[in-house]
Amino acid sequence: MRIHAHGGLDQLRLDEVPEPAVRPDEVRVRVRATSINHMDIWVRQGLPGVRVPLPMIPGVDAAGTVETVGETVRHVRTGDRVVVAQGISCGHCAQCLNGSDNLCRDYVLIGEHRDGADAELLVVPGRNVLPLSEDISFEGAAATGLVFLTAWQMVVDKARVQPGETVLVHGAGSGVGSAAIQIARMYGARVIATTSSERKAELARSLGADEVILYTRTELLSEVRRLTEKRGVDVVVDHVGTPVWDVSIKSLAKGGRLVTCGATAGHEAATDLRYIFYKQLSILGSTMGRKGDLLKILGFLASGRLRPVIHSVLPISEVREAHRIVESGEQFGKVVMTV
Ligand code: ZN
Repeated sequence: MRIHAHGGLDQLRLDEVPEPAVRPDEVRVRVRATSINHMDIWVRQGLPGVRVPLPMIPGVDAAGTVETVGETVRHVRTGDRVVVAQGISCGHCAQCLNGSDNLCRDYVLIGEHRDGADAELLVVPGRNVLPLSEDISFEGAAATGLVFLTAWQMVVDKARVQPGETVLVHGAGSGVGSAAIQIARMYGARVIATTSSERKAELARSLGADEVILYTRTELLSEVRRLTEKRGVDVVVDHVGTPVWDVSIKSLAKGGRLVTCGATAGHEAATDLRYIFYKQLSILGSTMGRKGDLLKILGFLASGRLRPVIHSVLPISEVREAHRIVESGEQFGKVVMTV
């Protein structure tokens, strides 16, 4: 599935292309499942300041089987079930060697700066291929990757959520939101989630949200104050941006932390700095996560402590419909495509 130019859904086209070659340190994966992330929408529409090499195969999350193994790759064999780590980095700078590969200057994502997962075959460096347990379906693995890794770094590494703390998660139905609810709960937090409908609220509770605020019906800030007895929350997990920025700052308790990983509804916001210093707030930026954390997440998935949240599974031939659903925001969880 390729885009030749930026634009609407009609830019997504099924193309026949030659099989990608495999270098000695690479692995070619037969993709069985992939999923749609907001990244795919932006890549298709075009983002100011981000140059996407066209034509390009989008798709950031892939699970499948090993098809060909480069001669210097030792940890997987043909036929192995695998999931693909989305970020590719240099592997030899200080950040990479410290394990913070997503801080590498050369860090790029498949499906953003090079061909991605919406294809029968995907070639990545050998170190990007991680073994996938029989306990996790290809669809489940494809639904997990980017959003759980993103939410993990936000909740665990950046906000350092502690047992007994209260965490406000915006957009419970989003991939990152549905992952953040589960991870914050696993770390012993009380979770307040926001969403748009009763049906989504029920699903949020089934993932472990202690309280759900319907922002379509109630005023968010007063509801947060009521639920926290005017104290505020310890952590806000946000990927929405502009519409919730001010209310997020005001929702925080003294010493609170706001973690942002995205701006799906706008990237400009004004901040009253008095809240920041008077309440001693921390604002933390986050993008993606370390490859090693993906292994931890897969472990929790295999044991059932965390679970992928899937809205629907479509064949890749319906990629336009898959993009449409995610763009509309009607989904709860991930839209997965089988290849
Ligand atoms: Zn590096």
